[in-house]
Amino acid sequence: MVFAFDLDDTLYTEMDFVRSGYRAVSRELERTSGLDADTYYQGICARRPVGFEWALEQYHSHGGSDSQMSVEHMIELYRGHTPDIALRPGARDTLEALGRAGHTLVLVTDGSTRHQRSKIRALDIEKYFDDILISEETGGDKTTDIPWKRVEERFGAPGQRFIYVGDNISKDFYLPGIRGWRTVMMRDREGVNVFAQHIADWPPQYRPRIVADDYSTLLNLK
Ligand SMILES: [Mg+2]
Repeated sequence: MVFAFDLDDTLYTEMDFVRSGYRAVSRELERTSGLDADTYYQGICARRPVGFEWALEQYHSHGGSDSQMSVEHMIELYRGHTPDIALRPGARDTLEALGRAGHTLVLVTDGSTRHQRSKIRALDIEKYFDDILISEETGGDKTTDIPWKRVEERFGAPGQRFIYVGDNISKDFYLPGIRGWRTVMMRDREGVNVFAQHIADWPPQYRPRIVADDYSTLLNLK
């Protein structure tokens, strides 16, 4: 079987990436001003989405010495930071078990090369995948045929079965579903996902075939 995985909020928690970026920016602000990183961090989190604007005011009123500091520079620091993130419990064991069982593993994720590659590096997961499709590199996100077709063309064989494992009901299950893939939604049991999973609000064709509470469900698919 071909198991294709989403990345954000499927294999790790996306808000952890956001917080890790805020911490990196906060450490840099602390380095050249009289306010501590924790105060910056708490303030930036509490004031989303205008946390950086607030932090810049604090920076100036606490003797910030870097004249180049700006919201744009903070965004740049955020984008370029080395993320401090971890796979969700059970994800690594399952990726390894699926690989050992001889299945093909693919990553299909939307986003920029820079962000997605830095997450993949931080999570140390590149080694598990036979192919990694990032929308900026393939030229089409999950709302287009591009990633699905590429996986089918590369790994298709008579009788081959395709499975997509994701979290986001607005785009993760509709297209693979109508192409005949099985779709699995990893349930957001702690309510931490960026995109909330209100399945009943969506038309049936958007919904996943299977809702999984943990990754081990994937090991039992026939
Ligand atoms: Mg996702």
